[in-house]
Amino acid sequence: MDELFYFDYAATSPVRPEAAAAMMEALGRFGNPSSRYGYGREAARRVKEDREVVARALGCTPDEVYFTSCGTEGDNWALRRGVELNRRKGRHIVTTAIEHAAVLETCRDLERSGYEVTYLKPDRAGRITVEQVTAALRPDTALVSMMLVNNETGVLLPVAEAVRAVKARDQAVLFHTDAVQGFLKVPFPLCSTGADLITVSGHKIGAPKGIGALYVKKGVKLAPLLTGGGQEDGLRSGTEATGQIAAFAAAVSAAAADPGRLDRTAAMKDYTLTQLKAALPNLEVLSAGDVGHICAVTLPGYKSEVVVRVLGDRGVCVSSGSACHKGRPSHVFAAMGLPKRWLDGALRLSFSPETTREQADVLVSALKEAAGSLFTTLS
Ligand code: PLP
Repeated sequence: MDELFYFDYAATSPVRPEAAAAMMEALGRFGNPSSRYGYGREAARRVKEDREVVARALGCTPDEVYFTSCGTEGDNWALRRGVELNRRKGRHIVTTAIEHAAVLETCRDLERSGYEVTYLKPDRAGRITVEQVTAALRPDTALVSMMLVNNETGVLLPVAEAVRAVKARDQAVLFHTDAVQGFLKVPFPLCSTGADLITVSGHKIGAPKGIGALYVKKGVKLAPLLTGGGQEDGLRSGTEATGQIAAFAAAVSAAAADPGRLDRTAAMKDYTLTQLKAALPNLEVLSAGDVGHICAVTLPGYKSEVVVRVLGDRGVCVSSGSACHKGRPSHVFAAMGLPKRWLDGALRLSFSPETTREQADVLVSALKEAAGSLFTTLS
């Protein structure tokens, strides 16, 4: 393959060599962790160790970590079974208009079965305040779901503060956070937010696709989403994906062993934004991002779909928003109330600790060249 200049780490990340090696090793030991003979017991022992690694990174105990197939599963499980758990309290949900589709579409599905959902609107910077969350609470609110890091703007939402404020008002409200873009990308363990339920996903942190985890705080009696053989302490049936789990733990360990990763990523984002602003005077920064790995810019008058394609032809990978939009305008930027010509030209850039200045320079010159060669809707 030709060289790739990859700026779409929020969509997915390359599998880390440590994760690939751990996966290959685990695939060789193919025992089913539920089997009673040595081969199975060995597989179960490894899954236990891997769970401990993930728990340490989350800041919780291993019995609070349940492996899932992806972030989408974690979000579905938390929301669907979370509201059920609190069904006696009521049928009202509070979430934000800028959640990932895994939360938004689940909320829409719950609306179809009789739940009422309040979607909090962000301001023009993509921020949601704690006051908005508490003002939306009602006596019949069963669950609040507020993402930790927005996947299109890189804005860090005040989850810990919101958990505290919500619980102070009403201890019985369940609090879920979709922390798929926050896991190992923020300088605090996710469980320190105090949320009852936390969703994470492996493929954003160098593990392969097909693995994630849901943190369920001790004492929260969440029912399973998947029923069957009773794996994961009866809460998530399905034979454990031992290879993916091993890779997930290896990716977590590798990240945890590299404390400089957040600063390096942020430095590359800052460098890229500075260079872009210098090279393209008409470029607007939609969000500089609070986290080091995500920011959003726009080239007003250009169509981001076309820019993404032209850059892609040059081996430069950026996104016009969440990879899940597939060409539709971003609901996040739209909810921020940005003018249409800003929405049309929006680009999400996302980084990793391995991003280099040379790669960033290629992005800047490719974008400058693309802007020069394309007609704008303004011209
Ligand atoms: N939540 C957020 C914020 C995301 O960015 C994503 C993936 O882009 C998901 C959930 C879904 O995760 P997965 O792809 O593991 O299903």
